[in-house]
Amino acid sequence: MTYDKGPYDLGDHCHSWLLPEGRWGESNTGLIQGSGESLLVDTLYDLTHTAEMLQAYAPLTQHHPIRTLVNTHSDGDHWFGNQLVAGPEVQIVASQAAAELMTEASVQEMAAMSDREDRVGEFIRSVGGHFDLSGIIATPPTRTFTGELNLDVGGREVRLIQVGPAHTPGDVIVHVPDARVIYTGDILFIGGAPLVWAGPIARCIAACDRILDLDLKAIVPGHGPLTDKTGVVRVRDYLEYVAAEANKRFEEGLTVEEAVASIDMSRFADMSEQGRIAANVLNVYEDLDSSRPREGRLQQFGRIADFELAAAASGKED
Ligand SMILES: [Zn+2]
Repeated sequence: MTYDKGPYDLGDHCHSWLLPEGRWGESNTGLIQGSGESLLVDTLYDLTHTAEMLQAYAPLTQHHPIRTLVNTHSDGDHWFGNQLVAGPEVQIVASQAAAELMTEASVQEMAAMSDREDRVGEFIRSVGGHFDLSGIIATPPTRTFTGELNLDVGGREVRLIQVGPAHTPGDVIVHVPDARVIYTGDILFIGGAPLVWAGPIARCIAACDRILDLDLKAIVPGHGPLTDKTGVVRVRDYLEYVAAEANKRFEEGLTVEEAVASIDMSRFADMSEQGRIAANVLNVYEDLDSSRPREGRLQQFGRIADFELAAAASGKED
């Protein structure tokens, strides 16, 4: 999907920074200006990309400095750049569930995963090699909440709505009612396949419904270009379809691997990151069978890597 990198003016003093192509690690941020202060939604995956984004916002923040940073969730591509925004006058806000995962250990874990001498390391380097995780100092939230939190940003209301656990344990969407704008974090991937790390998948569908219920003129996804409600409906369709197909195969006694291999995804073939189906089906199986040990991020990435590497190999043979 082709779209330009850069700041986008969404009207009513709301902005976004989009990072094409919206693939692994290529996330978006938002800027909401109030009177004399601004709120930033998310930082980026490394310091170089975060610095470039902040530089692009500089004309907007010159007279309305960033006083609040909201991290939509705990994945590194939405908060590893926090140290470039942090300061005594800046409040960093996330849900309690997200904050618990935003630790130095998680930065180390991600860096170690990409250094692995196996298929997971190979896969992560192949998709994220243009990011540099050196120099990152974990900079966690200074304020947390559970449920909903209304902030006053220089005289305007910004609503933080926790919809996680969904994509991750602590997802939050950021709604600006007076501008009819929403920043959804990774509840929405546009162009790429949805990804359910935490789930259950029904909560990802419910998060889509929550967005669809709002009166909106601009929707900023966690990855990919700006979208509208048709984009949300398509994500919801994918999730409902995968949930139904995985359920059916669970009942028939198929393994996760057999289920992943047999679901016809041609309806969604235009999406990049097709390998996420492996993590999404696993999530449905884990939800249906509570005795099944839950797999961690490394194993989930392993399943996605297996799918993508196999697809790449068969593509080469054609
Ligand atoms: Zn992301």
